[in-house]
Amino acid sequence: MTENVIIIGSGPAGWSAAIYAARANLNPLLFEGTPQADMIPLGQLAFTTEVENYAGFPAGNVRSFIESAVDASRHYNLPPAPTGHERDGQPHYAVQGVELMELMKQQALNFGTRVVGDDIVDVDFSGRPLRVIPANGKPLATHTVIVATGARANYLGLPSEERFKNRGVSACAVCDGALPRFRQQPLAVIGGGDSAIEEASYLSKFAAKVYLVHRRDQLRASKIMQQRALTNPKIEVVWNHAVHEILGDDQQGVTGMALNNTVDGSRRQTDVRGVFMAIGHTPNTAFLRGKLDLSEKGYIRWQQAFRTMTSVPGVFAAGDVADDYYRQAITSAGTGCMAALDAERFLAEHE
Ligand code: FAD
Ligand code: NAP
Repeated sequence: MTENVIIIGSGPAGWSAAIYAARANLNPLLFEGTPQADMIPLGQLAFTTEVENYAGFPAGNVRSFIESAVDASRHYNLPPAPTGHERDGQPHYAVQGVELMELMKQQALNFGTRVVGDDIVDVDFSGRPLRVIPANGKPLATHTVIVATGARANYLGLPSEERFKNRGVSACAVCDGALPRFRQQPLAVIGGGDSAIEEASYLSKFAAKVYLVHRRDQLRASKIMQQRALTNPKIEVVWNHAVHEILGDDQQGVTGMALNNTVDGSRRQTDVRGVFMAIGHTPNTAFLRGKLDLSEKGYIRWQQAFRTMTSVPGVFAAGDVADDYYRQAITSAGTGCMAALDAERFLAEHE
């Protein structure tokens, strides 16, 4: 049997593609992946708490809606409602990452998406039909593929960083910067590329001060972005320093950072309430090397602006796996929709 469309990935791009493909009667089959250290089914949002910028989910008693929408057999996967956000005795908060993703998954299931809890480890795009190879199953034939495997934010790999993730350590200023815990506080951004400058500039709107910690004496960022950081009175560049440890406690989360001078080895300690990593991302495309046109950093290249076609006819890419620039849940969902529409048109054109 040859599938119409196989979707690889279970973040906002994958589920949105599935919703569109299922409603178009394409009977999609979605591989959601298996839990790994830096990547889990339901995507990157499953690593975070409240999502305040996904349109359509203002803070409220989202809990009762979610419990009514998501099948009871998966309620075990819903995190507890955050405390301290009640209004009139009811939960009152912005949707949490896992909750939002469970809603997307449910919506895809409601329209008949078939879901497999396995990873795709290889593909054969050399002929037709296309073939995808799961880790624990037989190769599958399909007319179209939507790759929505996302990306992973790079972290430094410190145990203290792991301890304070979601409690002061973040890899997304646009996502987390406006949270109350960071407002009018001293914060740090780690990295010297364009992302680091963008994150630092964004945070400077809310923070008391932003330390931009870079391991060298020159920024990698473009000149225009450098200028932006160097002229911002709230941003102080800490040259030639690397994070040795993130400091904090269980009650307050992050309270500071210990930095090593990369030139003379000396150590300094700086008080901050948040540390934002901006040291790059890694797209989940290892299994596609040599099979699709990828950028030097491994992102899938769309062959035409604003179209989700890849270098192989019938293979489409959506979400962070093809986007090293916006990297947001809502943009991923948008391109997931585009990929499903492109797959539907491809199938119609090729009967
Ligand atoms: P992902 O969410 O990365 O999901 C892809 C998933 O596919 C993977 O998790 C994995 O389970 C699966 N997969 C990968 N490879 C395979 C394979 N070979 N076979 C099968 N399955 C596979 N964005 C916002 O808009 N607002 C926020 O508040 C926000 N907060 C964030 C907080 C954190 C901590 C992080 C890390 C990111 C945050 N983001 C936020 C960014 C947002 O999560 C991403 O932009 C979005 O999740 C990307 O969606 P995606 O569908 O492209 O892929
Ligand atoms: P990037 O350009 O690869 O920069 C990563 C930065 O993190 C570098 O400064 C690097 O230091 C540092 N770094 C990497 N690993 C580190 C570690 N273990 N410890 C400490 N520092 C570490 O990544 P990016 O900034 O995310 O940019 C990705 C791409 O998107 C680029 O092409 C960029 O131009 C583009 N982008 C553009 C814009 C814009 O134009 N507005 C905004 C964002 C991103 P070194 O410099 O020492 O290597």
